[in-house]
Amino acid sequence: MKAVRFHEHGGLDVLRYEEAPDPSPQPGWAVVRVRACALNHLDLWERRGLDRVKLPLPHISGSDVAGEVVSPGASALPAGTRVMLQPGLRCGRCAACAEGRDNHCVEYAVLGLRSDGGYAELIAIPAENLIAIPPHIDFITAAAFPLTFLTAWHMLITRAGLRAGDVVLVLAGGSGVGQAAIQLATHFGARVFATSAPEKADRTAALGAERVFDHYSGDYAKELKRLTDGRGADIVVEHVGEATWERSVRALATGGRLVTCGATTGHAAAIDLRHLFARQLSLLGSYMGRFAELTAAAPLLFDGTLTPVIDRVFPLADTAAAQKHLEQKGQFGKVVLEV
Ligand SMILES: [Zn+2]
Repeated sequence: MKAVRFHEHGGLDVLRYEEAPDPSPQPGWAVVRVRACALNHLDLWERRGLDRVKLPLPHISGSDVAGEVVSPGASALPAGTRVMLQPGLRCGRCAACAEGRDNHCVEYAVLGLRSDGGYAELIAIPAENLIAIPPHIDFITAAAFPLTFLTAWHMLITRAGLRAGDVVLVLAGGSGVGQAAIQLATHFGARVFATSAPEKADRTAALGAERVFDHYSGDYAKELKRLTDGRGADIVVEHVGEATWERSVRALATGGRLVTCGATTGHAAAIDLRHLFARQLSLLGSYMGRFAELTAAAPLLFDGTLTPVIDRVFPLADTAAAQKHLEQKGQFGKVVLEV
């Protein structure tokens, strides 16, 4: 098969579009003909080399995949079924897996991190990871959906316990997770605010945010309190980290929950403990999500309630250009490879 691999870590020039061996599925696994694979920042970190994870080389990245079943393995879906893939891999045998807490599994991994991913014509995947998609959902859209919407669902619904009427502040609302969080919170009846770079503000608001604050300047915590009659945010969705942490904590209402899935500007954040106890705040960590959550979110993709934003599509052979486009940070929505 054709695939994009890197044999050593480094810059964009280590990505090679080349002939690679077809995947050899484990017993019961399915093989899928990849039609589209969306990029994530994780792909860039994999290529550059990760501090704490040693990747098997050569490596094929790609966590967000849609395509057609070639051989179903243990799945009941016949060959030819159009599918998107659950981006989490679990052991399926431990207590966490048995209770549906897949992302607590000690073997839990993102598809395409320790295993080969979707920058290829074929991918081997546990049969349980297949989700059939209806004919009106194209492969590009399906590939753009799983990782960000799963992450946002786990943060908002499972961790932060979103309820209708909550005030939700989404940091970096123009990012992939931010766009998903705005759409989910709006759908479940929250009053949604966001931050973004000024040039992304209008498009971020169009996703459902009542007001979009400038991410870089100004005090959005103060602004939000003014707009909510002093209340602040019941939930803050964070993944920016050091640059915004202090304002994000200050933006919380009494009893508010700050949920975070990342720290792109730095991970050394401080907190004034007086705020934590006196205002009875909750700080919640979140990582990826669970099978049942993506299964619950998928019908909302299929009926048009949730729509991943597509920024640009590149052919697989131009993966280096696609990653360069993602690195330049100007994009609004998912960058997707067509395979
Ligand atoms: Zn497990």
